[in-house]
Amino acid sequence: MRYYSLNRQSPDVDFKEATIRGQAPDKGLYFPEQIPVIDPAFFKNIDQFSNEEIAFRFINPYVAGAMPDDELQRIVAETINFHIPLVQVKDDTYSLELFHGPTLAFKDVGARFMSRCLGYFARERSERVVVLVATSGDTGGAVAHGFYNVPGVEVVILYPSGKVSSVQEKQLTTLGKNIHALEVKGSFDDCQQMVKQAFVDESLTSRIFLTSANSINVARWLPQQFYYALAWKQWKDKENPPVICVPSGNFGNICAGLLAHRSGLPVSHFVAACNVNDVVTQYLHSGQYQAQKAVPTLSNAMDVGNPSNFVRILELFNHEFGNLTNVLSSFSISDEETRTTIKEVYDRYRYLADPHGAVGYLGLQRYLDSHPGQKGMFLETAHPVKFYDVVEPVIGAPVPLPEAVQAIVHKVKQSRIIESDYEALRAYLQERY
Ligand SMILES: *Cc1c(COP(=O)(O)O)cnc(C)c1O
Repeated sequence: MRYYSLNRQSPDVDFKEATIRGQAPDKGLYFPEQIPVIDPAFFKNIDQFSNEEIAFRFINPYVAGAMPDDELQRIVAETINFHIPLVQVKDDTYSLELFHGPTLAFKDVGARFMSRCLGYFARERSERVVVLVATSGDTGGAVAHGFYNVPGVEVVILYPSGKVSSVQEKQLTTLGKNIHALEVKGSFDDCQQMVKQAFVDESLTSRIFLTSANSINVARWLPQQFYYALAWKQWKDKENPPVICVPSGNFGNICAGLLAHRSGLPVSHFVAACNVNDVVTQYLHSGQYQAQKAVPTLSNAMDVGNPSNFVRILELFNHEFGNLTNVLSSFSISDEETRTTIKEVYDRYRYLADPHGAVGYLGLQRYLDSHPGQKGMFLETAHPVKFYDVVEPVIGAPVPLPEAVQAIVHKVKQSRIIESDYEALRAYLQERY
């Protein structure tokens, strides 16, 4: 498979190049030249296939040629070696729980896949790789965990100071070894901007083999198709495909769902649930795309004012607004509605949602309200314990700590505070590498 830059000023590359570079030299996102079409019989008989076979079927056309099949099979198996259950919350609503991985959020899937691909390509080249990543909360932990102790790979994580939850912060600042955390006095958008600038700074890239681990990287974006397919495997009513509601920030996750749908995965409609950072919600109503400054909310992993993956969605729909709105709707949910939803879902159905899942739940209800008879699922993207400071006061009960979290809450944070200024990042990288 070849990948072209959405800015169309850089040459096409293969999967390996696209993974190593992260972003094209012209600052565009990479996009596959063809979208594979999967046989309808496969979807009809999906329960006859193992999870690994399903995942391999989706990813193989995108990777083929860049590594041997057995290597890819091994990576796929390690990527999805935890449960991804579809849990019924009420009659017409299911939760696809994506938080059973090591850092308790869906980003484990993309991060595990990408870190293993990059580890494989780095071994081939025998050169040190520096992975640079900006996080609004969950990416950092997932990436740190995915790359921890991987030989030849150093990870530098930028996160907005005071704007991630305490569990998230521990997950990205307590590993040590090849994982380094920079606490930026600014917003997630500032962190993302600084990272983007580093990739086009030749004074760095000529000396350091820099790559990104953000959701713009194809090796993180593409494997996110897996759990949409695994959800379909668990969906009972094969005659009536689900509405799928995705709590969205940078729009990588939902874009992977839309891609899987384009390959043939049955889905009745997609809903992007946003918090008050609602650029895309506004766009789908007005046709006008107006980037905003990110506003902090309870669902902090979605505090994005200019979602980088949205250009991929536009490309997928040939920039035709009508085609897009046939498949995708969006709702914006306030913090107050998020709290009320967490409480109501807990009190009525004994289901505990995290703030992102609650936004997804309510977004789905908004859509189902005007489409009676349909059923759907929301993606529960993080474990509620990651946001216990929000969730516990709302439900008036403690959230028990899973083992993965118990092990880190008492560890000491190790981070370096830096100004929200590209020069500060450059100086750090110059000095260190
Ligand atoms: C990253 C994240 C999101 C948003 O996903 P995008 O792919 O950026 O749209 C939603 N929920 C949680 C818990 C996240 O960590």
